[in-house]
Amino acid sequence: MPELPEVEALSVFLSERLIGRVIARVQPVAISALKTYDPPVTALEGRTVGAVGRRGKFLDVEAEGLHLVVHLARAGWLRWKEGLPVEPPRPGPRNPLALRVRLAGEAGDGFDLTEAGSKKGLAVYVVRDPAEVPGVARLGPDPLDPAFTLADFAVLLHGERRRLKGVLRDQGVLAGMGNAYSDEVLHAARMSPYKLAGSLTEDEVARLYEALGGTLREAVERSRGLAAGELKAEKKLGLRVHGRTGQPCPVCGDTIREVSFADSSFQYCPTCQTGGKPLADRRLSRLLK
Ligand SMILES: [Zn+2]
Repeated sequence: MPELPEVEALSVFLSERLIGRVIARVQPVAISALKTYDPPVTALEGRTVGAVGRRGKFLDVEAEGLHLVVHLARAGWLRWKEGLPVEPPRPGPRNPLALRVRLAGEAGDGFDLTEAGSKKGLAVYVVRDPAEVPGVARLGPDPLDPAFTLADFAVLLHGERRRLKGVLRDQGVLAGMGNAYSDEVLHAARMSPYKLAGSLTEDEVARLYEALGGTLREAVERSRGLAAGELKAEKKLGLRVHGRTGQPCPVCGDTIREVSFADSSFQYCPTCQTGGKPLADRRLSRLLK
C-alpha cells in the first residue's frame, strides 16, 4: 500500500506534469471506484490544474475550484502515460484500470489509476472542498508538517489506551502512516509494537517523535525525483524490517520476526524492540487453543 512517502513523491511527480495543463477527459472505468456523483467527473474537463497536493495518504488534484481526490488503497497505483487513445477504455473483469485522466494537447499524455487484485478499495472523489471526503475530514495532523511539534505528539499519546502499532496507523491520530512505515518507525524507536501508547515516559515520547520524523523524512528524500514507476521498488529497498521476516536485522543482526493476522502481518526485531522476546503470534495461538 502506498503510504505517506510514496504519495508525497507521487504528488511531486504529478505537480511537475499537471500544473498549468488542461484536463481534456476524465474516464471512470471501474464504476465502484467513483464515490461521488455531484459534481460529475466530467465537470473537471476543460479546467486547468492549479495545484497537486497530499493529505495523509490521499492525493489531491485541484483544478479551478474542483478537487479530484484519490485514495490508492492497498493495491492501487498511478501510471503516467503518453499517447492515450481518445476512445473510452473498455471495462472488464480483468482490466485493472479504474480511472483515466487525459490532458489536452497533441501528446495525449495523462495518467491511469489502476488497481490489481479482486479486493477493490481504490476510491476517487470529485468535490468542491477536500473536507467533503470523510477520510480526509477525519485526518489527524501530518507528521511532516513543520507545525507538528513534540508537544503536540505528547498530547496525542496522552491517555491513549491502545498499543503503539494500532495508534501509529490510525489516520485520525496521525495522517499518512500504514502497516509498513509504522513497523519502520517502531524499529527505529526500538519499541515494541504492543507497547501501550499512553504508558510512554517523556524520554520515550521524544524518541518516538524523532523516529517518526526521521524515518518518514528519509523515505520522502529517497523517493523524491523518482518516476511513479520506480517508487514501489524504492520503497521495498528502503524498508529495514517491514516485509523482511527471517532476514537479519540491519542494526543488530537478530532474525526479524512477524506477527500474522488473517489478512495482514507486521514485522519487528526482538533484540531491538522487545528485549529479545518474541511476541505471541495471535493467529497461531488461536489455532493451538
Ligand atoms: Zn535488531
